[in-house]
Amino acid sequence: MGTRHVEIANALTIDVEDYFQVSALSPHFDRADWHRIPCRVERNIDVVLALLAESGSKATFFTLGWIGERYPRLVSRIVEEGHELASHGYGHHRATDQHRAEFSEDIRRAKSLLEDLAGVEVKGYRAPSFSVGKGNPWAFDCIAEAGYRYSSSVYPIRHDHYGMPDAPRFSHQSRDGLLEIPVTTARWLKTNWPAGGGGYFRLMPYALSRSLIRRVNRVERRSAVFYFHPWELDPGQPRVEGTSLKTRFRHYVNLHRTEPRLRSLLRDFTWRRMDQVFL
Ligand SMILES: [Zn+2]
Repeated sequence: MGTRHVEIANALTIDVEDYFQVSALSPHFDRADWHRIPCRVERNIDVVLALLAESGSKATFFTLGWIGERYPRLVSRIVEEGHELASHGYGHHRATDQHRAEFSEDIRRAKSLLEDLAGVEVKGYRAPSFSVGKGNPWAFDCIAEAGYRYSSSVYPIRHDHYGMPDAPRFSHQSRDGLLEIPVTTARWLKTNWPAGGGGYFRLMPYALSRSLIRRVNRVERRSAVFYFHPWELDPGQPRVEGTSLKTRFRHYVNLHRTEPRLRSLLRDFTWRRMDQVFL
């Protein structure tokens, strides 16, 4: 008899926001105009829910309060289908652009709005653009004080817009009663490599993403945390003019590959909600 792998359950997470709310594109859209832009998040979430149903996977949806307020049906579908509803804050402000009081108000507003809409406790929070870290440790106090039980706001990699490369790679108590659950990295050559999604998943060959997650599961015996956005499955989204080459590349590269790759990812690993895997 050979060694049997008992497959570890990983946590799948989706940041529920529309393409025009992404931080890198935000200079091109005035917040005051958000409500006039035709929304694509509803149909994209339909695609995501169908993929999850097809593979029997469960996931956590970090949802913007702004989206929940306008599309309450989307929120109830997430809950009805057995997924976890979590918070991505209200207005997609980076915590690094906010004062403590503004940040606190935004994350409390999102929590109570989503809880009222769905009638379930919202336990988890993820900061827009992983904007919580060394420069604003008070943000963890605010998240705990707002009544969240976990946060997934740190990606321990080196990146020009976010990342905290020397942060712990696995879940840990960051405050009394608050668990921080970082997005997954793989450790190789004394460096943390992104293994938990984002643009990297669209850029790298799928086999590489798969081997990094397998390494975390089988060598380190830890659960992985993976994330993506609904707009990453939407090659038909309007192209934003006047952005830098780097932003264009990061946002649009391989959008048509996301759906088939996600299908493979859902088939190759076991995916559950954050609260089921970690709480
Ligand atoms: Zn976001």
